[in-house]
Amino acid sequence: MSRITRKQFLALGAASLGLAGAGLAGGELAGRVLFSTGEGGAVPGELVGASSSIGHRLRGGTFAAPGDIRRTDVVIVGGGVAGLGAGYRLARAGYDDFLLLDLEAAPGGNAASGRNEVCAFPWGAHYVPLLTQEAKAVRALFEDFGIITGYGPTGVPVYDEYALCADPTERLYRYGRWQDGLVPAIGLTAEEEAETGRFFATMRDFRRRVGSDGRRAFAIPLDLSSQDADLMALDAIAMTAWMEREGYRSPGLAWYVDYCCRDDYGTRSKDVSAWAGSIISPPATAGRPMPASRGWSPGRKATAISRTASPRSSARACGHGRLPLPSTQLVAA
Ligand SMILES: Cc1cc2nc3c(=O)[nH]c(=O)nc-3n(C[C@H](O)[C@H](O)[C@H](O)COP(=O)(O)OP(=O)(O)OC[C@H]3O[C@@H](n4cnc5c(N)ncnc54)[C@H](O)[C@@H]3O)c2cc1C
Repeated sequence: MSRITRKQFLALGAASLGLAGAGLAGGELAGRVLFSTGEGGAVPGELVGASSSIGHRLRGGTFAAPGDIRRTDVVIVGGGVAGLGAGYRLARAGYDDFLLLDLEAAPGGNAASGRNEVCAFPWGAHYVPLLTQEAKAVRALFEDFGIITGYGPTGVPVYDEYALCADPTERLYRYGRWQDGLVPAIGLTAEEEAETGRFFATMRDFRRRVGSDGRRAFAIPLDLSSQDADLMALDAIAMTAWMEREGYRSPGLAWYVDYCCRDDYGTRSKDVSAWAGSIISPPATAGRPMPASRGWSPGRKATAISRTASPRSSARACGHGRLPLPSTQLVAA
């Protein structure tokens, strides 16, 4: 069978989608495009994501000689949530000799957001699960942003209601019928029903478990979670492989777990570790702050960095416009 190249595939995809617009060759998908409805109408839309043209420049390595040389103590490469978080912590601690770089024209990475005439909206990541007690860094951030407004008598955070999103009630259309909830329940064999029950009982046990080191299992971040060998082993096996090993064969259950992984991690259960897959099946919380949906998290972090840091680092940290990766040689002091 003859194989097609990635470039040919993208070109075919572009052609079949009816991509319009100047400069949109097959390999260049980022940018404003029109999806044809096939009946004369056209739906305006946009494909966003990592810019292939910048990526190709990096791959080709054909950059001009550095136009200027900067010295800095710390270089943070990547202005996604992780990079912005690192920059925010530095700036908040009064440390301003750092440079935050991003490949793209704007920071945010996979948690980037946009805005249309109606409202702001997320492109990728859009909510944050209610915080675990171990997530101290995120708590501090949410306090700064006013998302956590205080703490109850038992130390449980009190969230700004406006930032909370109750778990939506979801339903599933299967075999011509609607059912409540996302876990397939219609048309299951007795065996599948038992399997589904066993799976969720295991997930509940996982959630309640405290390891032999006294730490909670499945705490986030993983470093603060129990390091018991059997739990850590879950991080070395894919969720799909783990389910097969544990005898979960129900296609409906496999679909549900895959859906959770795609929804929360943007990738399939075959590529998500069983440790990560176990946190989200079922969803861990009844409510979720959803700052990214209004462009809060990356947007606020970038703004907060610029407010906190000195003018020298703020222009760099916010990365107004394209950051000077290709033409600047960086020297860590
Ligand atoms: C579809 C989808 C939905 C998701 N939904 C959620 C959700 O609702 N809630 C949640 O908590 N998590 C969610 N996640 C996971 C979450 O998006 C990621 O865990 C998180 O955004 C990763 O942040 P990061 O900073 O590590 O990486 P990224 O967001 O990928 O940021 C990396 C940054 O580095 C830049 N970069 C890359 N290469 C270079 C280079 N060579 N030089 C300079 N810069 C470079 C990129 O441009 C980018 O800005 C979702 C993931 C996906 C895919």
